[in-house]
Amino acid sequence: MEEQFPLQAELIERIDWLISLRWLAVVGTLLTIVGVHVCFPGLLLQGPLVAVTTAIAFYNLLFYFYARRLHASRSTVLKLRQSTVFAYVQIALDLIALTTLLHLAGGVENPFVLFFVFHMIIASILLSPTASFLVALLASSLFAAMALLEYKGLVPHHNLVGLVNPELYRHGTYVLASILVMSTTLFLVVYMTSSISARLRARTNQLLEVSRSHEAKSRELEELNTKLQKLDAARTKFMVTVTHELRAPVATIYSCLDLVLGGFASPEKERQILERAQQRTTELLDLVKDLLELTGARQAEVQAEEAEPIQLADVLRNVEELMRVEAENKDLFLSVDIAPNLPLVRAKPEHMKTVWTNLLSNAIKYTEPGGIVVVSLSHNPEYVVGVVRDTGMGIPAEDLSRIFEEFYRTANARAICPQGTGVGLAIVKRMVESYGGKIWVESELGRGSKFTFMLPKACNR
Ligand code: ADP
Repeated sequence: MEEQFPLQAELIERIDWLISLRWLAVVGTLLTIVGVHVCFPGLLLQGPLVAVTTAIAFYNLLFYFYARRLHASRSTVLKLRQSTVFAYVQIALDLIALTTLLHLAGGVENPFVLFFVFHMIIASILLSPTASFLVALLASSLFAAMALLEYKGLVPHHNLVGLVNPELYRHGTYVLASILVMSTTLFLVVYMTSSISARLRARTNQLLEVSRSHEAKSRELEELNTKLQKLDAARTKFMVTVTHELRAPVATIYSCLDLVLGGFASPEKERQILERAQQRTTELLDLVKDLLELTGARQAEVQAEEAEPIQLADVLRNVEELMRVEAENKDLFLSVDIAPNLPLVRAKPEHMKTVWTNLLSNAIKYTEPGGIVVVSLSHNPEYVVGVVRDTGMGIPAEDLSRIFEEFYRTANARAICPQGTGVGLAIVKRMVESYGGKIWVESELGRGSKFTFMLPKACNR
């Protein structure tokens, strides 16, 4: 809350300053009274002057306790409202006390009348310009009232005999001139101090604005930095995994070639070893192909903006032709069901081909001969929905959340089909998401899996 009203919050602190200043004034006044008494015995009405000074000390003590209570208050809004009223009351009381002291010590003849100026400065620092002008009006009125009442003889005048001309207070022109000079001086002081104060406040506000926006910026930077660190960690992890995945087949190929070239294998074993090397090379090429596609999937995020409206059904029919041969080779039943009047989606055809190919080839790869693979394409009010369902080996529940991770393969998949990179689904997920879509899997171990993806209709984007 205090952050919202920094300048008002400052007022609460300045009230303490005003109270300390008043203690100084009390001590100063008492010392002046004593000093004047020593130098000019009998000049001042010591009793009443000391009584007024004691009254000032007394109300300052009350103010001190009130300020402490105000500080302890929990509600900042209440604190701010009370502090403003509190400042008005203090300044008004001080003006009355000063006028009384002056009245008891020579009225207009007292050179300390200039002390009104200090009160104007204090008011301009603490209060708004309007309130400060009101304070100047009050001070001028009090001074004028004192001068005129003494002039008219309605209140007694206490002469400062021997210090100034004791008849000045009865000099009409002098009294009027004093009132005029005092009032203009007070208003001018308030005008000047308030405008400086206002400028300082505006500058403080600007600084506060700047520091707030700096804080927001540095918070933003911190968040960005954390994101970058995470990205960097993910990239390092990816590099380590890729290197590891590449190293295994290369090591096998190397040792196969080493055996043959070193003449350690019998001629009949040689062919077997070379075939193994060839097999590992195929796997390596598959991995390189998948890694290239993964890079393509990363680029899909960048290319998403350039995507054209396409018919997902056309891409599916294309892929279906190739996959049907694979499915038939494995004695699988493949059914494709495409809803009529399918809306278009915004995507690159080659990316969508990759999505269908990966999902379909997985379904065929992880389904035992005699199984069924069902592909369907439909739509709802916002999305075009593609589903690839199979009656294959399924995915263990504990692996479901991880199969879209790069290089992740389930143990049962590794056992049944050692060839595989674990990159295909990561590519699919990236591509679908880069076009504003989503993909998820439902599966039951031993009974089959169902992959569903949704892409926003072209008109919605
Ligand atoms: P790959 O098939 O090369 O291993 P993918 O990224 O395509 O890599 O798949 C990751 C893993 O998800 C597979 O290894 C397999 O464990 C599991 N998986 C994917 N599709 C299916 C499916 N239709 N049935 C069962 N498991 C699947």
